[in-house]
Amino acid sequence: SSATTNENQSPGRLVVLTGPSGVGKGTLMRSLLQRHPELYYSVSVTTRSPRPGEINGKNYYFISRSKFEQLVAQGEFLEWAEFAGNYYGTPREAVLNQVLSGKLVILEIELEGARQIRASFPGALSIFILPPSFEELEQRIRGRGQDSEEAIVRRLRRAQEEVKAADEFDIKIVNDDFETALKAIEAALFK
Ligand code: 5GP
Repeated sequence: SSATTNENQSPGRLVVLTGPSGVGKGTLMRSLLQRHPELYYSVSVTTRSPRPGEINGKNYYFISRSKFEQLVAQGEFLEWAEFAGNYYGTPREAVLNQVLSGKLVILEIELEGARQIRASFPGALSIFILPPSFEELEQRIRGRGQDSEEAIVRRLRRAQEEVKAADEFDIKIVNDDFETALKAIEAALFK
């Protein structure tokens, strides 16, 4: 039975939060962590350059492409993907240790990585955050003002593709009103 399977797996849980770039999942994550410090947020590894204010080891572990490829070859990632010209990956060991120790672990990642997690961990809860509209999403990505025009265009194109995948996920939440979206995530996590 599924109850037995859960007992045999672990007391912890894995939650994957995905949705297009600019949808506000990072901001939702930050509020969620402030309100629920018992959650474990997995810091990802990336080959992207740090944005102003980003801190190595807090926002991401920023590493070179060759180092990233080495870690891939060593099987160090639970999932990884290339996004807008950069690699992103979730450290395997840290996440598995946290899940095994009973934590609720949240991964905030893009679509390909979220699909990999769903395939390897059928018991994971998956949440897809949707923008209220594509126009709104474009405004948010441009409004961030931190990316080049080329990067913005790539992100917008990717976002259009990603939204089509929403139905693959357990729960879909529209991030129109921030508080409402946050409450919907909490309801899914702590029900
Ligand atoms: P950004 O460059 O804006 O920080 O992130 C770009 C995209 O990569 C976002 O959709 C973010 O959720 C995703 N991302 C961040 N970390 C990871 C990761 O470890 N794996 C995957 N697959 N995507 C990630």
